[in-house]
Amino acid sequence: MILLDGKALAAKVKEEVRAQAALLPRKPGLAVILVGNDPASRVYVTSKRKDCEACGIYSEEYALLESTTQEELLELVAELNGRPDLDGILVQLPLPRHLDESAVLEAIAPEKDVDGFHPVSAGNLLIGRPGFLPCTPAGVMAMLDEYGIDPAGKRAVVVGRSNIVGKPMALLLLRRDATVTLCHSKTPELGELCRQADILVSAAGRRGLITGDMVKEGAAVVDVAMNRDEAGKLCGDVVFAEAAARAAWITPVPGGVGPMTRAMLMKNTLLAAQNRQKAH
Ligand code: NAP
Repeated sequence: MILLDGKALAAKVKEEVRAQAALLPRKPGLAVILVGNDPASRVYVTSKRKDCEACGIYSEEYALLESTTQEELLELVAELNGRPDLDGILVQLPLPRHLDESAVLEAIAPEKDVDGFHPVSAGNLLIGRPGFLPCTPAGVMAMLDEYGIDPAGKRAVVVGRSNIVGKPMALLLLRRDATVTLCHSKTPELGELCRQADILVSAAGRRGLITGDMVKEGAAVVDVAMNRDEAGKLCGDVVFAEAAARAAWITPVPGGVGPMTRAMLMKNTLLAAQNRQKAH
């Protein structure tokens, strides 16, 4: 069994971004908007700032009050859209309930959509055009490539169908010629389907959902989820020890998909800067 070491690969990706960013006439720039006081979001925003520093990317942080109105937030997005020195705009999710998430994401200029959540980015992925890929599934694909796990002709099963993880994950595997099954909470016989997977990606956010008997011998198992156990420790969907006994490759949690997601945001910001500096 081989551990898919996301931490090591993320360090390599970030080093490549740093080298490429240094070749540009102007530093890539990323704006991160955080609304409210969610402690987990705060942690994510801080780590994004540190990643930017490590990659030679200029970053700006906007910490807005919980009471921020939709109009105020849209105004800020519009202002950042117009800033020539900023290549990427990221709105940290989830937003407070009174704000309309999809309207805010849609307001981001597609050429600055480094999270890949804008409908234009989602559409480009669907029809196979180049564009920004959502960071988590893009990070999973980079990990598969790094370890020589070629999806072509394989059976892939994705558990979870969110717009930010499950759906784009299925599309990326399909793009690489896997035969893909996309499962969700209404899927009967989840175990039977998972057992057929050469590549099994779980992004349900349900601790203990994927037990060892659901893993095919020799499969690649990718655990995207970030759950907490009773002791507050980070864990995924997969019962690691059981699954590792059958899998040929498996991601640890933490140290698997999480660091890759962060690295791919840096890669997308570099891509945005390269595209925009070419265009201007
Ligand atoms: P989400 O929007 O809550 O979606 C979860 C999906 O899992 C839904 O499609 C849901 O089905 C499905 N699901 C839930 N319970 C299930 C079950 N018992 N059997 C089969 N499918 C089930 O979550 P998300 O944003 O996609 O995130 C998923 C997980 O990944 C979370 O743990 C999140 O923290 C983690 N995550 C990690 C990273 C990272 O960088 N590692 C990044 C993003 C997210 P329905 O559609 O039918 O409800």
